[in-house]
Amino acid sequence: MILVGTESDIKLFNEDGTRIDGRTVEELRPIKIETDVLNRADGSAMIEWGGNKIMVAVYGPREAYPKHTQDINRAIVKARYNMAAFSVDERKRPGPDRRSMEISKVISEALTSSIMVEKFPRAQIDVTIEVLQADAGTRIAGLTAASVAIAAAGIPMRDFVVGCTAGKVDGHIVLDLCKEEDNFGQADLPVAVLAKSGKVVLMQMDGDLSEDEFNQATDMIMRATKRINQLQREALTTKYSEAIAGGE
Ligand code: UDP
Repeated sequence: MILVGTESDIKLFNEDGTRIDGRTVEELRPIKIETDVLNRADGSAMIEWGGNKIMVAVYGPREAYPKHTQDINRAIVKARYNMAAFSVDERKRPGPDRRSMEISKVISEALTSSIMVEKFPRAQIDVTIEVLQADAGTRIAGLTAASVAIAAAGIPMRDFVVGCTAGKVDGHIVLDLCKEEDNFGQADLPVAVLAKSGKVVLMQMDGDLSEDEFNQATDMIMRATKRINQLQREALTTKYSEAIAGGE
């Protein structure tokens, strides 16, 4: 039996020590964040992160419906992560599956800790994350963009949520795994934090890391989130500076 794409037949490191896509171990893929890309939403953002293209729309806070879902003390954050059928090589069957429900749940929880939900009792905030093109790290890219879209909607937040992934590939700890590294590497660790405090609001792990490797990976992630948070802030400032230039 021939196994296609097992660890043995895919080379994830080049002779010169660079990765399959030419990056160094601690190099991020290019990231671009844009806000106000949708007219109907209260807030929106588009993120391009490596080969990922993800659109986020935010609606609310508005009265939570059905009524029995209301919380008299705070707003509920309902994030819905979805991968378009055409976002991956093999057509993704439309509709929610276990993976997307799990991702929606962890993203909702991460966003809840950043938003001043106590200011909006009985309300709900809807965050729709549509993956148009997937290239690994979509949950983190979607969450990072969602935080920008929430800020663009003018919803009061304590802090930005910002994330990055690290993992183990051919025995090396590397930052921001691309699709081949995610699929054929040994471990994948997506982490999201509150930008100022560094408090962890999402952490999942696929594969095994030793304690040393885990520390190395989380150090890389923490350094990267500082740079990514800068991009989140710039995306919002660009929006406002464009508005001023346009005389609004
Ligand atoms: N993927 C896919 N089909 C699926 C789910 C995932 O092709 O049904 C790909 C996609 O490129 C995704 C990557 O595998 O980005 C890694 O998926 P994972 O579940 O690790 O989540 P992510 O890294 O995107 O947060």
